[in-house]
Amino acid sequence: MKRYIIAIVGRPNVGKSRLFNRLTESQKAIVHDYEGVTRDRQYGDAEWFGRHYTVIDTGGFVPDTAETMLSQMRDQAQLAMDEADVIVFLMDGRAGFTESDREIATMLREAERPVVYAVNKVDSWDRREEVLADFYNLGVPLFPVSAEHGNGLDAMMDDLTKDFVVVPFDEWENDDHSGVTQVAVVGKPNAGKSSTVNQILGEERLLTSDIPGTTRDSIDTRVKHEGRDYLFIDTAGLRKKSSISHRLEEFSVVAAIRAIDRADVAVLVLDATEGITSQDKKIAAVAARRGCACVVLVNKWDLVEKDDTTAGEFVKEFRHQLPFLAWAPLLFASAKTGQRLHKIFEFIDNANEQYTRRVKTAELNRFIEITTTRHSPPIHRNRKVKFYYASQVATRPPTFAFVVNKPDGVAPAYRRFLENQIRAEYGFEGTPIRSVVRARKGHERTGER
Ligand code: GDP
Ligand code: GDP
Repeated sequence: MKRYIIAIVGRPNVGKSRLFNRLTESQKAIVHDYEGVTRDRQYGDAEWFGRHYTVIDTGGFVPDTAETMLSQMRDQAQLAMDEADVIVFLMDGRAGFTESDREIATMLREAERPVVYAVNKVDSWDRREEVLADFYNLGVPLFPVSAEHGNGLDAMMDDLTKDFVVVPFDEWENDDHSGVTQVAVVGKPNAGKSSTVNQILGEERLLTSDIPGTTRDSIDTRVKHEGRDYLFIDTAGLRKKSSISHRLEEFSVVAAIRAIDRADVAVLVLDATEGITSQDKKIAAVAARRGCACVVLVNKWDLVEKDDTTAGEFVKEFRHQLPFLAWAPLLFASAKTGQRLHKIFEFIDNANEQYTRRVKTAELNRFIEITTTRHSPPIHRNRKVKFYYASQVATRPPTFAFVVNKPDGVAPAYRRFLENQIRAEYGFEGTPIRSVVRARKGHERTGER
């Protein structure tokens, strides 16, 4: 389902990252907290009254000269204009209106997307008109805000999201694409995404249709393989669109975010000749965070000089570098020669099956009881943490709830231990799994369900 992209642009120090934090702190914000990934503040998901969005803080650099600052800001603004649905141009009410603000504003006038002009650091709300006076010569409506104190943010968000389609959270969670497996082909530029999709199409005679530009940022292709329907979302096509975006590293990450939001399974394409790069890690983190199934295509395997141990070494290195994707299976193939590439369907089907799999409550309970008895949970404030029951509360991805007497007493490490035990018992290869710990409600009986 469509998640709107909001990009924040503005000079350094105007408060972009503070605003970013605010906008992703809201109810239902997804906390990106994965071991092994440095917390990357650049992308965050949240919703505003049923309007789902991703915020991109395009900043984060420290320019050394005024000249580089301006050119970086131009790049930022261009990226936002190419990729975002709405742009927030943030200025600094304390510093007042500056020449750089004017430059960027001039650029943003060309934007085909809505731009919201916000003046930050309006901490004393009564004086907002005074602060804004300096910015009126822009000739646009202005939103006074304080990212620090929260002033004005509701009005700004209402305006910002006014054209977003509202999707209730339940529907958002249960969007099941009616029988078509949606596959996002993601990876850094030149990894071989287009070649992969083209090779698949070349092999697949049963191709039903080509749907160019279903969204403005990817090329969707319907494929029928052994009686099943797939929709391949190829993010490579976008590259040719803008002269500037493809220079920017972030570009393929933004494309991945969009494609992954619609996908059941992500195919992460790696270039075997380059090993695992930081760009691969960023894109992999997007897939892991968003909770879609994932398989890894180690492409260009034809170019690699190899012996019996090469593939094994690659797997080892992958698991080491990307521990949060340790459950993803790797397919070594060549999009160019087609070698082993046909196996991708098997990988995708298996991952999707695990992604939508359900473990029966009775069975799960038996397993959790045995596990918690064998390795009892740590004592919490001199009281034993008691597990009443466990159940799988969701699929896509599989999510487990543990109902206990003291939710606070279950340390994250113990919860991860249980997740690992579930994996060891049930597999779930190709899909992330999640868990929640809940207190028993008063009216529920022990062992219910
Ligand atoms: P960025 O470089 O645009 O991402 O700016 P930051 O978010 O890092 O903020 C720069 C500085 O401005 C930090 O010291 C913030 O605490 C401060 N700041 C951000 N928002 C506000 C605000 O609403 N009021 C005040 N007084 N300071 C703010
Ligand atoms: P994209 O940017 O991820 O879509 O990458 P492309 O599919 O455009 O591929 C980038 C370059 O790598 C092209 O020159 C391809 O011919 C080449 N390439 C892609 N896959 C393979 C492969 O498996 N083996 C070899 N030798 N070259 C490949």
